[in-house]
Amino acid sequence: MIYWDYAAAAPPYDEVARTVEQLMRLHYANPSSLHRAGTEAAALIGRAREVSAAALGVLPGEIRFTSGATESNNLAIKGAALQYAGRGRHIITTEIEHPSVYESCLQLQKMGWEVTFIRPDAYGMVNPSEVAAAVRRDTVLVSVMHVNNEIGSVQPLAEISRAVKSANPRTLFHVDGVQGFGKLPGGPLDFGADLYSLSPHKIRGPRGSGLLYVKEGVQMFPLLSGGTHEGGIRAGTENLPAIVAGAKALRMAAERRGEFVSRIVPLRNRLLAFLREIPEFTINSREEGAPHIVHFSYPGMKGEVMARQLEQLGMLVSTRSACSSRLAEPSRVLLAIGRDESAAVGGIRISFGDEHTAGDVAALELALLSAIKALKIAEGGMR
Ligand code: PMP
Repeated sequence: MIYWDYAAAAPPYDEVARTVEQLMRLHYANPSSLHRAGTEAAALIGRAREVSAAALGVLPGEIRFTSGATESNNLAIKGAALQYAGRGRHIITTEIEHPSVYESCLQLQKMGWEVTFIRPDAYGMVNPSEVAAAVRRDTVLVSVMHVNNEIGSVQPLAEISRAVKSANPRTLFHVDGVQGFGKLPGGPLDFGADLYSLSPHKIRGPRGSGLLYVKEGVQMFPLLSGGTHEGGIRAGTENLPAIVAGAKALRMAAERRGEFVSRIVPLRNRLLAFLREIPEFTINSREEGAPHIVHFSYPGMKGEVMARQLEQLGMLVSTRSACSSRLAEPSRVLLAIGRDESAAVGGIRISFGDEHTAGDVAALELALLSAIKALKIAEGGMR
């Protein structure tokens, strides 16, 4: 079996898995406890905050640990909306955000906030001037993702941020950085972000820890009430093993980014060139996109059917983002970039990791050819 679903979850580095196990056994004390075991645990979290901050080029005090990027995105959007409701109740986001952003905005809409959803172009690109034109006096927050998790389009975040801030300097800018970190350059400071979400399990870290960068001076309304953890915006006993191992993964991903990209880009380009030669496929990703994501549709064929066929041939692929893959409807992202319904139900996402080789890509290409053949025979048989 070859695993092609790194954008959904990447296998943890050995060092990461070992760290989680050791910390679970050794540092089980509650970091809030005042005895020695507690203060040792608190010191480990403090160190993880410094390591994470260094990987992002920000201050340790600006890092808030959460349970994952779904929580970080919920906190960024609803926490900012509730905190700054006095300034206004208008939010701007895009039609291709991850469900944790999109659904948070829809929830606020139901509660009386006004939300403007910006439609990207046919390549999944958001136009900074269009975002700026939507900014109003009462716009509290703009949320735009770095890399789209389905098709891999990369947004011009620095331009969007500049355009937003010149339209209204008080409007906060949130970036869902989950699929960009470790794959593309830039962090919250380069993007002019006030809020920035990350998820270590996408970069070979552990599950159960996430991160939200909150720029110094920005306040968040806590979604979880309780103790004073994480600067008072995220109550709950810290998941120490995941936080510490997650910080390790952030550091490793930042250090290895150059090597990862130079290895993976030729493989991604080879696969894209191969797919373009197959008339049955509509390609939804580009060389200009993120290095690790290739997305294509087989119009008229459900993505799940193609994915199951590929699995029988030893290839584990995804139909879209893992968080939406159990939905029966066509992909919201593909519809937003102008694909018709038949292409929008027929998507396949291949996502690369640092362990893939040219031999793996060759095996995938062969499997794709066999899958098309098998599906065509099955289709013919049903007529
Ligand atoms: N944003 C994006 C762009 C993602 O790809 C994901 C993971 N599917 C998330 C947010 C949610 O991250 P997590 O799995 O850590 O909740």
